Parts: sequence; C-alpha cells; structure tokens
Amino acid sequence: MDVRVRFAPSPTGLMHMGNARTAFFNWLFARKNNGKFILRIEDTDVERSTDVFTEAITQDLSWLHLNWDEGYDKGGEYGPYRQKDRGALYQKHLNVLKEKGVVYPCYCTPEDLDEMRKNQIAKGQMPRYDSRCRYLKDSQRDQYERENKSFVWRFAVPKSTIVVQDMIRGDVTFDSDRVSDFVLTKSSGSVTFHFAVAVDDACMKISHVIRGEDHLTNTAKHVLLFDALSYERPKFAHMPMILGPDGSKLSKRNGLSSLADYRKQGFLPEAILNYMSFLGWAPQKYEDKEIFSLGELSKYFDVGDIGKSPSMFDFVKLKWVNSKYLSRLDIDHLTTMALPLLRESEFIKDDVSEENFVQVKNIVALVQDQINSLSELPSLCEMYFKDTLTHEDPEVKVVLEERTNKEILLTFKEILKDLEEFSDKNLKETFKMVQKKIGVKGKALYLPIRLALSSKMDGAELYKMIQVLGKKRCIDRINKAILL
Ligand code: GLU
Repeated sequence: MDVRVRFAPSPTGLMHMGNARTAFFNWLFARKNNGKFILRIEDTDVERSTDVFTEAITQDLSWLHLNWDEGYDKGGEYGPYRQKDRGALYQKHLNVLKEKGVVYPCYCTPEDLDEMRKNQIAKGQMPRYDSRCRYLKDSQRDQYERENKSFVWRFAVPKSTIVVQDMIRGDVTFDSDRVSDFVLTKSSGSVTFHFAVAVDDACMKISHVIRGEDHLTNTAKHVLLFDALSYERPKFAHMPMILGPDGSKLSKRNGLSSLADYRKQGFLPEAILNYMSFLGWAPQKYEDKEIFSLGELSKYFDVGDIGKSPSMFDFVKLKWVNSKYLSRLDIDHLTTMALPLLRESEFIKDDVSEENFVQVKNIVALVQDQINSLSELPSLCEMYFKDTLTHEDPEVKVVLEERTNKEILLTFKEILKDLEEFSDKNLKETFKMVQKKIGVKGKALYLPIRLALSSKMDGAELYKMIQVLGKKRCIDRINKAILL
C-alpha cells in the first residue's frame, strides 16, 4: 500500500504544541514508510479562516523542518489542497449521496433546533437532532420547496453499530443512536468539516489518518461517509491527548503557547521535535536515550508504540531538552543566532566586524552551557558587555565585606596587575600564590574573586571569565569590591 498521510490544519489560529505533534507524527510516519506527507488547508469555516494563519502555519512547519510533498503552495496530483477551492468535488459527492437516497433536506430553523435541544434537556435526554425532517411527508417537503424555504443536507445515519478500527485503541464501537443525522452542506451551500474531510481523505487517497483523540467521535461519522460513497476506509490512529500540568486538557489557560511564542523565546526546532516525540510515543524504550536526531526519530517511529493514556506537557523537560541542543550547537552558529538578541538588548551595534564577532563568540561560549533557551542569553551575557555591577545583593555584599576576602582580592589584584598573559597556566600560578599568602584554598579562595568579578555565586568557569573580561575590567571590578 502506498503510504499517504496528511496534516490538515484549520487556519483559524496559530499552531501550538498539540497540532504540531500531529503534524510531526504524520511526517515521521511518512518518512519512515517512504510515503507522502500532504498539507491540506481546511478552511471550510470561512468566517474564522484567514490567509494570515495559513501563512503562519506553513512558516511554522518549515521552521520545524517538516517538509511536505504535496500542498496548496506545491501542487500535486490530488489538488487543489485548500478546501475552499474544492467546492465542485463536494457537490459531485453530494449528488452521489442524493442518488443513493442517504441524504435528505432538513428545513429546521435555528429556532426549531434550539427548542428541540431545550425540550430534550428538560426531559433529561441527550441533545441531538431528532431526524424529524428525515420522515417528512412528500407533500410537506413539496410545500417547503414551493415556499423556497432554506434547508441543509443531512446524512441519514443508518441504525447500526459503528465500529472504528483504530491502530492505537483497537476496535472502538459507537451506537448509531448517539450519532445524530449530521449536516453535510449548509443552507449557504458551503460544506461542513465532516463532509469535506471524508471526501478529501478519500479523493486524496489518504492511507492513514493520524490525528488527536478529540476527533474519535468525528471518525464515527467519517467512516459512514466512506461506506456510503463506496470508498475504502483509510486506517485510523487517534493519538492520546496532551494534558497541562494541572491534569486538564492543554489549553492557553494551563500553559499552551503557540509555536511562534516558543520560537521567540529561543527554543530550537530540533529540540521541540525531540521533546514532542515524548508526547504519547515512547522513544525512551531505546536504552534511556533522550536526545534523538530527526533521522533517528524517523527510523524508530512506530504508531504501535503510541500509548493510549494522555501525556503531560512538561515545560521543564522541554527546557532541559533545549539546553542539551544549545550546548551542542556549533559556537559560530549559536553566536550568529544570538546577534539579534544582543542587538535588541543594545549590547552590540548593528554592524559586527569580524573582530567583534570573535569577542562576542568568546562571551557566548562562556554561557553556552548555562542557557535553557536563547532568550536567557542576554541577561547572562550582560556582565561582559556592561560595567554596571554594583554588588548590591546582600548575600554578595556580606561575603565581599569580610576582612579575609578583602585581603584575597587585594593580593590577587596585585599579582594580576603585573601578569603579561592570562593563560590558564599563569592564572593557576596566581591562585596558588594567593593561596599561599592568605592561607585559604578551594571555594573560600575562588568565591570572593568570582563575586567581585560577576556579582554571582556561580556561572562560567572562573579562568575563562577572567580571560574574557581582561586585565583592566578585572582590576576595576576588584577595586570596586574592595571599596565596599
Ligand atoms: N482541521 C482539523 C483540525 O484542525 C483536523 C482534521 C483532521 O485531522 O482530520 O482540527
């Protein structure tokens, strides 16, 4: 079987972790099986769909390196790939259903439907369309037609048990009584999501529909349409939901951010993909390994390994994965990525000469292992770009005010002053000399110097910090600390 999968976003908002995971797992499945990954834009909701969101979604997918083989901007054998351009095809399929007698016009007004719903609720029944227009007498129907009364086309759900075979959940059974006759085309003539999805999946020869569990009840409707249109059903896989830290469905309220937000916060696409692979799938079974390249993920990916239970979105873990990727990044590349942020913080000017680039690179290298996301970089680098340390933090101040520590600083400064070259070897010698003179070693010796230079309890390696700051700035900062 030719594997053809699709990502079918509705361009009514920005892409977030939930739909990015859907895109990613479909992409992985296509790549693993030498199949095709198709991007279909589901813009049947004309009021809420916009080209701006379509553009934003495609940008996010490209940023994540999830390239598609067919799509609205690329074309392909089964296009067009925007639902708003597929009206004629839907009409053709509606005609087939009319001929088969499995659809009927429903003349109920929104007020009728509202009243029906209220009555059902009052009786303690589940609100659903009660199929009243399915059983209209011909004379009544004729009269409505003569009156030109507006109507929608509904699918006449056959009385039966609907079984959806799911690759993750096995057979899922629905009682047709719970699936009311659903609308296929609205009075305006536009199609509904259910109708468009089923027709498109069939006509685009989609072999596997991999999507979120929230679509499972929709699938019960879609398989009825596949059957009614005599199309072979695709295989289905419904992925478990992603929950927020409070245990409810991930939403804006409990931590859902758009991908654009993560990008702005300095998360790397590779890290996001790696993290998303933990959401419902289990690459962890590969010997506790947690960092996977995209190549590895597409080799290992198996729908059968997707679990049934929901997964919890863990921002701390995402940050951890991101920090791993950042710490492995080539330093020239990282520096180039950092430049716009450093400019924004006004640490560097617009033009960066080659010489400046090397200086910036040395600074970025100092903090590379400390950052969880790029956005943390400017604040960690600030002490190398600005000479505004004040040692005001009471915890810092109390250490620097101690007599022995002042002696350490004084001695250190005197030796530093005469040092020609700040090599590791020379600095080691310097510390040894201070140790000998004052009689302290280890943290007691290093901490006051670190605090005088950076005003922070920890951070980059001390020798490297001294080397990047250079003699003048080290001495100025130590003087400032001694004067406290
Ligand atoms: N357009 C739907 C959505 O954005 C996806 C439908 C599908 O995957 O079948 O939720």
